[in-house]
Amino acid sequence: MVINVHAHLAHKDMWSDAFWSFTADGYAKTLGLPKEVVMEQLLPQFWSSNADVFVKVMDAAGIDKAIITGVDFGLMPETGEAKWSVEEMNRWVAKQADEYPDKLVPLCAVDPRRGERAIKLIEKAVEEWGAKGVKFHPTAGYYPDNPAFYPLYEKCVELGVPLHSHTAAIISAPMESKYADPIYVDSVAAKFPDLKIVLVHFGGLTWILKCVEIMTVRPNVYAEISGHQLGARGMTRYWLSLIRDVINMPAILGRPLKDRIMFGTDWPYLVSVMGDDAWVNFIKSLPQKGKEYGIEFTEEEARKLLKENASKILSL
Ligand SMILES: [Zn+2]
Repeated sequence: MVINVHAHLAHKDMWSDAFWSFTADGYAKTLGLPKEVVMEQLLPQFWSSNADVFVKVMDAAGIDKAIITGVDFGLMPETGEAKWSVEEMNRWVAKQADEYPDKLVPLCAVDPRRGERAIKLIEKAVEEWGAKGVKFHPTAGYYPDNPAFYPLYEKCVELGVPLHSHTAAIISAPMESKYADPIYVDSVAAKFPDLKIVLVHFGGLTWILKCVEIMTVRPNVYAEISGHQLGARGMTRYWLSLIRDVINMPAILGRPLKDRIMFGTDWPYLVSVMGDDAWVNFIKSLPQKGKEYGIEFTEEEARKLLKENASKILSL
């Protein structure tokens, strides 16, 4: 069994036209294609990232369960609000999950700067729509340690749902990475010891060691390795030895790190780096892969990463 704790569904109306235009600019430059071609041929592939399409990808990759989410980018001045309200976006994601209740688990994606409206939305999403947590993308322009967000964290504790917060310097313009430094999530973890926090992307390559230190003293903080396809593919030897040592880390407070790291793919945004099937196989075959580089991994470590940790931590 494999559990993917980070994937996205996407719909054209989830983000504004200006947002999609930024996305198209990025791909046009990367692929050396005119922007119109990207708009007409590539973006529609993202727009069709619904549950039916995603479940086929999951099946092909041998993924049994996945957490799915939208992202609230509506408050970014450069791109503005989408056609759908943040409530409509989250309702859509939850409805998509309802079509595959054994496979898909929704989160409620919201920008905490929405204040009381965000809290109301979380309450509704959790109590009525089956959301199992909250998703933050601070790169939209906020630091999670802002005291104005404390009531939202209190609500999460009251509802018993975790906060998944993006922590990595991998995000395209106009979003900014400085807000995603895990140190700001550390402050939240310190103030709210009963709030379960998932460090999305495990800090990426930039901040992974910062995440490791945070986790050794914050028993309520966990991590997931989506986004690390980049490191695994681009700097395989380095990444394998890094993750080897990270798994070895004891904690000063809480469970050792080997019990607190989960698997994720961030579908569909990283398939150009590594498809979900290849990423699953990479982690599944860690013992063999490691051997090629003289690094030892056990089957149990691969199993914990792929399934057992997520199953325990997030009750999946
Ligand atoms: Zn993501």
